[in-house]
Amino acid sequence: MSDDSHLDQKYFIDDKIWNCPFCNRRHVAYTIQGVNFFDWSTTKTCYIWRVKCDSCGKKSMHLTYEDVQSPLASQTRFSSKIDLDAAFFYSVPTSFFTIDTRVPKIIRELITEAEGCVKMNYLTGASACCRKAIYELTVFEKAEGADYESRIKFLKKKFTAVDSDLFDILCHIKDMTSDKVHEQSWDKWDSKHLKLFLETLKAILHEIYVVPEEKKSRSSKVQGLFQEIKGKQKATNQAVDKSEIK
Ligand SMILES: [Zn+2]
Repeated sequence: MSDDSHLDQKYFIDDKIWNCPFCNRRHVAYTIQGVNFFDWSTTKTCYIWRVKCDSCGKKSMHLTYEDVQSPLASQTRFSSKIDLDAAFFYSVPTSFFTIDTRVPKIIRELITEAEGCVKMNYLTGASACCRKAIYELTVFEKAEGADYESRIKFLKKKFTAVDSDLFDILCHIKDMTSDKVHEQSWDKWDSKHLKLFLETLKAILHEIYVVPEEKKSRSSKVQGLFQEIKGKQKATNQAVDKSEIK
């Protein structure tokens, strides 16, 4: 069976279906309400798309520099060939809801902000949010150690189920000493590094907060089914016992 759970982490799944940020329903249909545009600069046009959830009726707003409309039904449908999440650099509501709610809220907010900044090419802001998100993870998980590297190594030992390469990537982030997190004394990262650090952090968060909970809920479901069968069997055996006594 294929695992399509990654689609839950998207805003727009395709040109017809999204995960609604208002009613939080997954894989529901949406309708385009309209498109407008303005001159971002003398050379760049920005398009404003309004989208309505077919389930709850609420409307969202999305900005892009790209021409995302379908050649067949312009202004009423997006092109099916475009990754809409990548094309929209700013959305209201934000993509905050696309990160699993089991990840601590403070970290989710920082990652959403960092990703928004990357899309708008605000690399200083993105670097600051990414650094703070990593810092908050070490605080949340009470990582011990005198410096940044030893705190990440502490997490690596604590979460042995998580691929150790992921922690190694975080370990190797340059000038990430904890006392520098709130200062301006570091350089901003370029977007390639930022994307790597954010994806690494998201993978770690998924392994720490989502995977174990899913395992637990699956095994409790199995336990429930097992108990049900055991209960039925017991009842049948008792009935047989009784009929034997008679
Ligand atoms: Zn909705």
